[in-house]
Amino acid sequence: MKKASDLPFKQYIDVLKAKIFTLQNISWKSPKVIGGSILLLLLMGSGIVYLNSTTSAVYVVVNGEKVGLLESQQQAGAMIDEILSEKGAPIGVAAKTHDSITFSSVRIKNSEYRALSKSTLEADIAYYVDGAAVKVNNEPIFVLAKAEDGERLLKEFQEYYAKPSEKNQVASVSFEEEVETEPVEVPLDQALSYEQALEKLKQGNLQKIEYTIQENDSWWLIARKNDMKTKEVLASNPGANEDTILKLGKKITLEKVAPYITVVCEGVRTDIETIPFDVVTKTDSSLSSGQTNVKQAGSDGEKEVQYAYVQKNDKVVTQTVKDEKVLKTAVSQIIEKGPQQVTVAYSRGSGSTVSGVSWPLRGPITSYYGYRHSEFHTGIDIDGDQGDPYTAAAAGKVVSAGWSGNYGNTILIDHGNGVMTRYAHSSKLLVSAGARVTKGQTIGLVGSTGRSTGSHLHFEVIINGDTTNPLNSLR
Ligand SMILES: [Zn+2]
Repeated sequence: MKKASDLPFKQYIDVLKAKIFTLQNISWKSPKVIGGSILLLLLMGSGIVYLNSTTSAVYVVVNGEKVGLLESQQQAGAMIDEILSEKGAPIGVAAKTHDSITFSSVRIKNSEYRALSKSTLEADIAYYVDGAAVKVNNEPIFVLAKAEDGERLLKEFQEYYAKPSEKNQVASVSFEEEVETEPVEVPLDQALSYEQALEKLKQGNLQKIEYTIQENDSWWLIARKNDMKTKEVLASNPGANEDTILKLGKKITLEKVAPYITVVCEGVRTDIETIPFDVVTKTDSSLSSGQTNVKQAGSDGEKEVQYAYVQKNDKVVTQTVKDEKVLKTAVSQIIEKGPQQVTVAYSRGSGSTVSGVSWPLRGPITSYYGYRHSEFHTGIDIDGDQGDPYTAAAAGKVVSAGWSGNYGNTILIDHGNGVMTRYAHSSKLLVSAGARVTKGQTIGLVGSTGRSTGSHLHFEVIINGDTTNPLNSLR
């Protein structure tokens, strides 16, 4: 066989021509040649533009229904992952879905391709989370978004009340109710984030109760019957105040906040307390009546008191003094004064009244002396805020100042002549047993310790060992 180069020149050209012809025939339909023809057609200015008109894409199929097109399965997968993490972000998890999501590949005309938007896809999917139901006495109260955070949540709620420190040796922390967490699957919008759940536990459960006004009801009594504060009862009845008359049989709403869970803490707390100085009065006949002279200025002392306590949520239910250590002794105030009258005078025949007893606290009376249903109320209750200072009703000597069962933190003052006054439910006592107090001297702060619902001062006037109606003596 001869090689082309061996052929005579004309023959060689012919062979070459034939090859070119053949090539053109074979390749006409190939893209390269189409490209060539486009170029050719464009050059010809014919106006016919022939485009490569199809593209590959995927249908996103949710539960058997085509919801839209995306470029590729990877793009669709990434979009779904993004949606799941964005959906769950507010509650600190990635959302999940049980929806069947598949992709089907297609080739479609470029002109028909519209990318599926994230918001459209998002709206077509149903979401859930694997959460933890927090159950109190077997009742689910809410679902925490992240199941594994259940134990941590309950522990943090206990610590919220326990507050252990160097000054607060917490011996035990427990729940009064049966509390447990249980894995549960819920729709996304029914789960709470960790922070929301903790806040919900701290806030408690707001319940709306319908109450029908009964005979002899007072705002205070309604509060007491429902384990609420007078202020809360009034707040749930806009426009009402202590003086608003209650109509028998009328229905009112009570918005009561009850804790979901009761944290019971037991321990020993160390408080630094003030020892108020005594006021020693010496009669100086060289002074005229009513004239006084401070011979020695008094100064308060300080003591460290150890209390063994039991606390339920933020309320101390019992506490007893374990130990007391004086850090700084108080210096008595010595006052010289001219001859004067006795401030508290009591006469036996006057129907259990004394004169010279002043109001220890300014505020509405929320419960009067006398029978209150089956119980006898031995004093009056004066409404006040936690921490409001109250004063001694008359001058006298502090018989006791400390915890006293249902009375909570209580002060008992002896005014002489068989007259005593008692101040109960205090948040803080500012005097100690043995101290001398003057009329109007701040002796304690209003609280809600002992058997008390809502902050108030329980005030008693005791004459010869019997409680009397304070209103007969108060001026
Ligand atoms: Zn009372």
